[in-house]
Order: sequence, then structure tokens, then C-alpha cells
Amino acid sequence: MTLGNFSLGIGDRFAHEAEAQLLACQMAAQRGVEVTPVWNKSNREHTIIGSEPAVTRAAADAAVRALGWKGAYHVDADHIRMETVDRFMPHSDFFTIDVADFIGQPVEPRAVAAFADRHPELAGKLAVPNMAQPFEATRAEVERLAAKYLVAVQAAGGIYRHIAKAKGEGTFIIEVSMDETDSPQTPSEMLVILAAIADEGIPAQTIAPKFTGRFNKGVDYVGDVAQFEREFNDDLGIIACAVARYGLPANLKLSVHSGSDKFSIYPAMRRALKRHGAGVHLKTAGTTWLEECIGLAEAGGDGLALAKEIYAEALAHVDELCAPYATVIDIHRAKLPTAATVNGWTSAQFVSVLCHDPRNPAFNPHLRQLLHVGFKVAAKMGGRYLDQLDRCRATIARNVTTNLFDRHIQPLFL
Ligand SMILES: [Zn+2]
Repeated sequence: MTLGNFSLGIGDRFAHEAEAQLLACQMAAQRGVEVTPVWNKSNREHTIIGSEPAVTRAAADAAVRALGWKGAYHVDADHIRMETVDRFMPHSDFFTIDVADFIGQPVEPRAVAAFADRHPELAGKLAVPNMAQPFEATRAEVERLAAKYLVAVQAAGGIYRHIAKAKGEGTFIIEVSMDETDSPQTPSEMLVILAAIADEGIPAQTIAPKFTGRFNKGVDYVGDVAQFEREFNDDLGIIACAVARYGLPANLKLSVHSGSDKFSIYPAMRRALKRHGAGVHLKTAGTTWLEECIGLAEAGGDGLALAKEIYAEALAHVDELCAPYATVIDIHRAKLPTAATVNGWTSAQFVSVLCHDPRNPAFNPHLRQLLHVGFKVAAKMGGRYLDQLDRCRATIARNVTTNLFDRHIQPLFL
């Protein structure tokens, strides 16, 4: 099973938006560009919502039938670990193995020396396509990086073999993710990681490093765009080298987690992808849930009232909601409007504060991030929330499709 060149990770927290999401990919196909939809949902999200992986699969299959989608599509068990992978096994054909917690764990010194012996090519100079200077490393540097990453890659190998035993080799797509960690991985780290992945026999088709800068949930990139572009470009060169050298899958590509709404780096990504003729996987999961809130608010009446209620509840439980996402949000509490203020808003006001238009002076990224991590509030409302999703279907579906197509697919892929 081979993942297409361009793919879009889409999240459907409440299993109501698959059709509206798929429509965005269909619109891209009508313009001649294949963007493979990948419905991803992590164990953390399933646990917070109280949902089951079977439901994600059923919603994806139903959307594909309803729209007559002929292209490929996948269901991603996102950020799985050995303890959480089994519940996804029958329903997923894409597995994102998260080994960030194993980075830097103590490794046998013998394993480090053996790795460096096995890979003399990693020490010395290396010409990387489209890289400004030849890449250079010493054996000591290779050993230092191997010591940092070998345990993590070995853990990924263990999980990969566990999945392969259950499902059969070649019947699913593997991503290795290391993004949920404190420090970004440099291109030199990427090369050592890929050599180790090849040694473990993991046929990774996507790899998710932690990039330089902040990838906060649902808002724009914060950081040095020029540095990001250099590193992203160098990563693509390193991947091309690693594919040629180590026989990794030819379609191996970068996966950008928390990739939604990063408007200021899409032009840089696009340039780098074009330079290398490379593909990319962009994970955008949570942005769709925010479009549900926008669609509710835009519908007015009971929909707007429910959106206001969700905000008030999220504000009342801000600590609890933010805790699991502390490393991927930056919320200034003083910038959050009070529930009373929000209660006085019209539909248009609520929409302009929440909708991600950075040029709109009313747009509030703090409120947007809080609602992004606030889906638990809607989950607790249960049927009351789901009923409103049905009642406000027209405005929600339009916002979900437009957000993916206009703000993500168009600038990055078309
Ligand atoms: Zn991630």
C-alpha cells in the first residue's frame, strides 16, 4: 500500500464532517491535483470524546460512498504506542508510531558503536541535493546522535513488527513521529534517524520531525520563517539521500503535524517541495472542529447559543482543557473575553473573532486556541451537541469544506 504524493490528514472529532472534508479533496481532483484524504484520530482524542476507532472508519467509508470518491483514502491510528495500538488494528490502514518519549533514553554503548561501525558513510562530507553546503559530521557526532535516537527507533521497530504480524506486511502505511518533544530535530539528526529506521526494517512512508518554531494548534506559525524554510529544504534533501542509500520507500516524505492554519510557512513549504519534486503529508485534524463552532455561530439562534455555551464552559475549565496540550498552545489568559462579553455577541461578531483570518483585527488567536482544545466540552454535551450539528448542517459543511480547500489545499497544493 503506497501513500500518494500529496496527502491531507483530516480530523473528524464527532464523525459528522467526513463528507464535507472529502468534498475539498474532490474539488482539488477536479482541478487536476490528487490530494489523498487521511482521516486521523489519536487515542488521546478517542479517550477525551469517548469514541471508538470503528466509528472513524465507518464515517470515512460512508463519505467515500456518498461522494463516489474513486481515489485512495486512509484511516490513520494517530500517535499510537504499543499500549494503545491494538484497538485500532482492524480499523486503520495507516499507523503513526509515536516514539517521542523514547528519545534520549539510555542505550547500550555497544549498540552505539555497532551503529557507527555499520554506517561509516555518516561520518564525513555528504553532498545533499539542493543544500547550500555539503553536509558534514564526525564519528563522535554520529555516535552522540545514535545514542539519542536508537532506543526510540528500536521502539518504533517493535511496534511496526507488532502491526505487521496482525495485519500482514505491505497492507498498511507507516509513519514515524517524533514531533511531540521539546527540541526540534536538525537535518543531521534526521539522517541518523533515517539510517536507524532502515536498519530496523521499518518501511516508513512518512516521517514527522519536530520542526523549528512553534506549531500551535489552529493558529499560524510562530518563528523564523527563513530558518524554517532552510531546514525544511534540507530535510527534503536528506530524505532523498536516505531513500537512495538505504532503500527506504521511494515515496518517503515529511509529515507536518499541527499543520493546519500555518499560513505564513505554506509558501516556503511549496517552494521547497517544488525544488525537490517532493510530496508532503499535512495533518490538519483540529481545524475542522473549529469550523463546526463557526458554522454553529453563523447559523444564529440555537446554534449561536450553543457556541456561546461551549465557550463559557471552556473558559470555566481552561486549566483542565489546556493541560494535555501545554506544549502546542500559547494562550494569554488576559486576552480571553469573559463569558458575559461573548454572550452579547451577534453571529457575525462570534464568527469574525473565531474565523482564522489574520488580517481581520477582530480575530482572536487566544480564544481560537482555547476552543481548539475545548472539544471535550462538546463531547460532554453528547446528543445536544450532535443534534445542533445536524440542524446547522448547511453552514457547518460550507465552512468545513471552504477552510480545507481555500486555506490549506489551495495555497499548498494547487
Ligand atoms: Zn502530532
